Amino acid sequence: MAKERVLITGAAGFLGSHLCDKFIAEGYYVIGMDNLITGSMDNIAHLMKLEDFEFYNHDVTKYVHVPGKLKYILHFASPASPIDYLKIPIQTLKVGAHGTHNLLGLAKEKKARILVASTSEVYGDPMVHPQTEEYYGNVNPVGPRGVYDEAKRFMESITMAYHTYHDLETRIVRIFNTYGPRMRLNDGRVLPAFIGQALRGEDLTVFGDGSQTRSFCYVSDLVDGIYKLLLSDYAQPVNIGNPGEITISEFADEIIKLTGTDQKVVYKDLPKDDPKQRQPNIKKAKELLGWEPKVSRAEGLKITYDYFKSLDKEKLFQKEH
Ligand code: NAD
Ligand code: UDP
Repeated sequence: MAKERVLITGAAGFLGSHLCDKFIAEGYYVIGMDNLITGSMDNIAHLMKLEDFEFYNHDVTKYVHVPGKLKYILHFASPASPIDYLKIPIQTLKVGAHGTHNLLGLAKEKKARILVASTSEVYGDPMVHPQTEEYYGNVNPVGPRGVYDEAKRFMESITMAYHTYHDLETRIVRIFNTYGPRMRLNDGRVLPAFIGQALRGEDLTVFGDGSQTRSFCYVSDLVDGIYKLLLSDYAQPVNIGNPGEITISEFADEIIKLTGTDQKVVYKDLPKDDPKQRQPNIKKAKELLGWEPKVSRAEGLKITYDYFKSLDKEKLFQKEH
């Protein structure tokens, strides 16, 4: 029997590439789509020779056409690091708006179920802590992060509209800070930033006074949660993340210990609208999906550090920003 076919956008990115691995392992035929604006073919080089994988180099803000049947669509294309979306703000808005619209249209045509990658950023700088799915958020639409946050909020709205008005089967995952192998060393996110600095023998740059918090989820846990959500019958947004909350100062100390660097922490200005605290309430994911994270930060950081250590020296010293 022919394998069921899944389209994954953002396939050459960090999360998209892990999702491709997961769906291939689960016995699907995977079509990966990406325009490589922040992703890299290195992340999917191991898949290119497989019979169950096909790659389309395509910008999803342009009309998306895929021949044949599709069972599922996972829309993960979008810049995800603050440095990236500040550098390409209009593309960020377009991929969240036009890109999502195109993929919803494709899902409707193919009668496919679609899952879209939303984010904890829809809660902005949250006034409710930990964040529950019922919280509407505190987003500055005209601040620098607005291009990402509002694109994702629009993505959720249009996805829900297709569900309500076209009866489309839709799923919305709100992803909290996730890390692991295949993150881009220079994408500006805090984990690759700190590990890269430690490996290059530079001081670790903590923004602000380091009292802001984040909660870091290891990528395999996130992928499991997404898979379970896709197969569930729940169309409302669901938080997937690891509730283990930590200040950025404590996080820098953990990286210093992990890497054994003798560099110190230096303090830089806090970027505008940087959320002061973030922690997922995962009651819904636990109750509806029977999901909770399994990988401790110590384990996940060790695997991720080993990955970054194994990269070419050239990559380590490549400066993008
Ligand atoms: P990433 O930058 O590694 O991957 C994004 C991929 O999308 C890249 O390969 C990029 O080239 C591709 N892309 C961007 N615009 C495109 C377009 N117009 N057409 C086709 N491809 C395009 O980022 P990531 O961390 O893997 O994030 C993936 C998704 O998950 C994003 O939608 C992001 O908003 C969401 N998300 C991630 C996190 C996280 O912690 N990693 C948290 C919340 C939400
Ligand atoms: N951060 C930092 N130093 C860096 C990069 C980031 O202190 O070199 C901080 C950033 O200000 C934020 C936190 O780490 O408070 C997480 O930043 P990241 O860009 O990883 O994700 P997001 O802000 O989107 O959660």
